[in-house]
Amino acid sequence: MTITTVSDQIYYAYANLAMADYAVSKGLSKYDRTCFMIRSRLYKGLQSGGMKIHSLFDDEKLKLQNGTRCVYCGADTEISIDHMIPRIKGGTDISDNLVCACKTCNSSKGKKDLMEWYNDKQSFPPLMLLRRYIKLIYNYCYTDCLLDLKLDDPKLNSLPFSIKSLPINYPTPDKLQH
Ligand SMILES: [Zn+2]
Repeated sequence: MTITTVSDQIYYAYANLAMADYAVSKGLSKYDRTCFMIRSRLYKGLQSGGMKIHSLFDDEKLKLQNGTRCVYCGADTEISIDHMIPRIKGGTDISDNLVCACKTCNSSKGKKDLMEWYNDKQSFPPLMLLRRYIKLIYNYCYTDCLLDLKLDDPKLNSLPFSIKSLPINYPTPDKLQH
């Protein structure tokens, strides 16, 4: 697997996410052949343009159903609106960028990139959150025509998130949550 461009990284992160999502919903403790097939089909489909990263619509629905719980830790007190891409780094007020977060998570995350923050905590985000995040980044890169850039392009250093931190190696499914 050679990951050389921004779109490679996003698509492979998303294909791995779909695989992890399937494994968790099946209650698997490790990835099996079906899982790897799901991942490779989706990755190839995204590369060829035959498949698309779904719109955020379903995630918006889930967000509403989820009510006012912190997307990071599940707490339901002292909830405020958090910008996944921090406002100070150019993140906007569009709903794709907004999630509910408790005060503790909000101040702990601060200006950090989502994955950098989780890496610092040595934990891994819930899949639902990661799915929103990957789509957000995809839309940003699509709009700004960044998808074809090589991953070592200096332009990427000035983005408000870290493309290379998008996870393409996921923990085993027994360590994941939806
Ligand atoms: Zn929280």
